Amino acid sequence: MSDAAREYDRAIDETEGPVTPQGPPTDAGLDLDEEARERRHEALAQIRTFGDPVLNSPASPVSEIDEELREDVERMVGIMRDAIGVGLAATQLGIVRRLLVFQAGRDAPPTPLVNPEIEWSSEEVATAEEGCLSLPGVIVDVERPLHVRVTGRDADGEEMLIEASGLEARVIQHEIDHLDGVLMIERTTREQRKGALRALREGTTFSPQREEEAETAPAEA
Ligand code: ZN
Repeated sequence: MSDAAREYDRAIDETEGPVTPQGPPTDAGLDLDEEARERRHEALAQIRTFGDPVLNSPASPVSEIDEELREDVERMVGIMRDAIGVGLAATQLGIVRRLLVFQAGRDAPPTPLVNPEIEWSSEEVATAEEGCLSLPGVIVDVERPLHVRVTGRDADGEEMLIEASGLEARVIQHEIDHLDGVLMIERTTREQRKGALRALREGTTFSPQREEEAETAPAEA
């Protein structure tokens, strides 16, 4: 197992208890060796960040599943892993097509999803901290349905039906939001949105105030 894979697994392990970013935004509190840190920075450099209008643009459905799409998937999976994220939407790379990848567990394979649609979501909701690779240094609380059923296609065009709960459901919903041009700060409280926007403007960090300091940071997607 490579160092990067180990770091990835460790980071995924820590997604159980959402965390606050401890260090500079680009490291999000992750304890990475130099090589992994460099890879993460190179990956982050390819991800569009807050202020880029593409992040507010709804993506168009993928009409053809071809070699170009498979190349996009491969690139997205690589960037997601190097950035130590749990998900990535095509729009975050400036590709305005309805395509996402996610990997919400250490043993889960990276999963691409083309033209994803939320077919059903539970009335039961959960609030948890979220991070976003496009909003470096920002953590906010987001309430979302706890369970979802999502349809779409894989990179070969085969139909997919995913029943997801917990972190997996959260990541998929976060990425589909990206494809609709919606950012997590639009789904949090007014107060947290204000704090997050100030941090983004000033290049500092933001996380919700807690009674006790969390020990780890939430996964970014
Ligand atoms: Zn995101």
